[in-house]
Amino acid sequence: MRPLRIALQKKGRLAEDSLRLLSEGGIAIPSAGERLRVPALNYPIEVYLLRDDDIPAYVADGVADIGIVGENVVYESGQSVRILRRLGFGRCRLSLAVPRDSSIQRLEDIQGKKIATGYPTLAQRYLKELGIEAEIHTLHGSTEIAPSLGLAEGIIDIVATGSTILLHGLREVHTFLHSEAVLIQGQKSEADLGDFLFRIDAVLAARQQKYILFNLPESALSEAIRLLPGLKSPTVMPLAEAGWISVHTVVEENRFWEVARQLQAIGAQGILVMDIEKLIR
Ligand code: ATP
Ligand code: MG
Repeated sequence: MRPLRIALQKKGRLAEDSLRLLSEGGIAIPSAGERLRVPALNYPIEVYLLRDDDIPAYVADGVADIGIVGENVVYESGQSVRILRRLGFGRCRLSLAVPRDSSIQRLEDIQGKKIATGYPTLAQRYLKELGIEAEIHTLHGSTEIAPSLGLAEGIIDIVATGSTILLHGLREVHTFLHSEAVLIQGQKSEADLGDFLFRIDAVLAARQQKYILFNLPESALSEAIRLLPGLKSPTVMPLAEAGWISVHTVVEENRFWEVARQLQAIGAQGILVMDIEKLIR
């Protein structure tokens, strides 16, 4: 069987998390050094290490079967690829930001103004959809200094925490797009991804869940089950002390704190929380 070919960012914000996803899926990629093509040690996959901007085209053209890249880069590229999975890392947003003391308060205020961006295709498209005409000036990096240099009255760029725009004396006015890293496949690709996706899905599912166990008075079990739909039904084991049980189950990470407080309120004690490595539903 021909190995799968996957395009990943060589260096930058997605590089480490992309390799970690493969590694947690049991796919060992040796350190690349200067190489741009690296076969896995224990799985039929070959990694192509590229600039992120080039990844959508490599995948669309079928040079790589799949790739991992920011959604913002996929849309900016205009390449036609399928988004197979959202990966939960590399989260950011495409926003309009202007100098703190600017008279621009709302998106419409940029009508007729000069805007610097590293995302000209997306910027033009969003502004056109909203019927706003601005002069788009394309830059290939360090967009955030353009306003202070007098090159533009605002920028349309990627913001994650907002600390960079704050540092450059800018404030965010409008968000056009929320983005995260995605797994993409070419429209015409016929690669068999069954086993690869089985592994990736087990890792992604595990990241969203916590394993919890706690002691509970037996009489509170039905209430606990109501709070914890779990995977199917929770595992319940008797404790040495009569009238007490130990309950084991899985909770969504984003509900965990709420559930933990509710469990405590119905008498749960010694609530233990653990990371899950893989979860196969
Ligand atoms: P390359 O050399 O591969 O072209 P790059 O400099 O274009 O890299 P990075 O800055 O490494 O790209 O960002 C890669 C992706 O990470 C972005 O396209 C975006 O999807 C995501 N991202 C997450 N947080 C941020 C952030 N704070 N700033 C920029 N991009 C971010
Ligand atoms: Mg890039």
